[in-house]
Amino acid sequence: MEVRVGLGFDSHEFEEGKPLFLGGVKIEGEKGLKGHSDGDALLHAIVDALLGAIGEGDIGELFSEEDQRWKGAESRVFLEEALRRVKKKGYEIANIDCVIVSDRPKIAPVKDKIRRRISELTGVSPERISVKGKRREGFSEGEGLVCLCTVLLVR
Ligand code: MG
Repeated sequence: MEVRVGLGFDSHEFEEGKPLFLGGVKIEGEKGLKGHSDGDALLHAIVDALLGAIGEGDIGELFSEEDQRWKGAESRVFLEEALRRVKKKGYEIANIDCVIVSDRPKIAPVKDKIRRRISELTGVSPERISVKGKRREGFSEGEGLVCLCTVLLVR
């Protein structure tokens, strides 16, 4: 058995008047995340972890911010492409582990919903997916939000 691990990181600034998407879930009543696409930093971190694990660069190389096709795009599209590449190389996802560093929104009330949505989007069963929320203790006040992700691939 061959295994690969991938690490993903993303951060986005908040943007007033834009809806907030995290892990493919729309979170009502919160400021959205700035970005060329829908700004879903969690899906971006997952995409980078998957691409990293198979050595195929990163989300910025595949989906350039200069490219008008991705303006306002649902980040699900980026995830679908990363999953296609993982499958093409013969790998399956063993597990996905994510951290969202955020004071607001609070992650605890939405993390199960996010986990289920990531499961739907990836086809990985929910018990193989973990979503954790951490407050940003000890570093500067929130102008935005940070997401980290690790994935393990097997073939
Ligand atoms: Mg991003």
